[in-house]
Amino acid sequence: MKIEILEPFGYCAGVDRAISMAYKCKKENPNKKVVVLGMLVHNQDTLNELSKAGIETIYEEKTSLVDLIDKVDRNAIVILTAHGHSRAVEEKLEGLGIPFVDATCPFVTLTENMIKKAVFENRDVLYLGKRNHPEANAALSISSKVHLIEPKNIHLDTKYHRPLVISQTTFSNEEIANAIDVIKNEMSDVQVVESICHASTLRQNALKKLSQDVKLIYVVGGKNSNNTKTLFEIASESHPNAVVHMIQNASEINKKDLYGLDYVVISSGASTPKEITIQVKEKIELLMN
Ligand code: SF4
Repeated sequence: MKIEILEPFGYCAGVDRAISMAYKCKKENPNKKVVVLGMLVHNQDTLNELSKAGIETIYEEKTSLVDLIDKVDRNAIVILTAHGHSRAVEEKLEGLGIPFVDATCPFVTLTENMIKKAVFENRDVLYLGKRNHPEANAALSISSKVHLIEPKNIHLDTKYHRPLVISQTTFSNEEIANAIDVIKNEMSDVQVVESICHASTLRQNALKKLSQDVKLIYVVGGKNSNNTKTLFEIASESHPNAVVHMIQNASEINKKDLYGLDYVVISSGASTPKEITIQVKEKIELLMN
């Protein structure tokens, strides 16, 4: 049987940088509590590793980052995740005298800077993103002139002033292109900025280029990872004759799914550690022996 792991795999540069910053902080402050505010990565295995190294994660799905700060030990050092955060988070930490390390991904910062520039120019910003995702929340917190537009559900009933259209970094290129077409059909004076990050685009393209001969695709990543969900949707849409499973790790592979197959493909999200993807391949090999 041919088992192919799609490139790239392993952490993207932004996640890799954020994890390294957390470990570096703990190494330099061995006697201090180091706390990640929110999910550093949407991957339980990585969170367990961080916890073993003494880096705690404080996260509740329905609680804002600002409110989560109430649960942070006043003597801790806080790590802010790659997704970005609102200015209010920094202000509250500063007010409480809690030091923090900003691990926002440079791609996310780039998007935020373009939004800030448009707002400064008194323009509206149409932000194509996912409701309640930390990256979208951070973008919306910049100004009331930033409006969330969900790509699958576009209602443009308000008049916007010289709008800038920009998106969350981990969406599907097609979904955003379709949303932009809808917006352009309704408004003439829009400016569009491409803001899906390189790491997401490469993973999406690898799936789209894949031969139609494949009959089973595993997409490996955390249940709450937006880029992993996007990869799952792209795999399902681009390969309608294949079975596509989204799994978190090798323990979720079912032997009966492999029966009679001679080609299996493994795609993985930007926050999935390399080892987890390799373990998925090894488990398939083991089950096929
Ligand atoms: S998926 Fe893209 S934007 Fe998100 S952390 Fe990775 S490189 Fe940065």
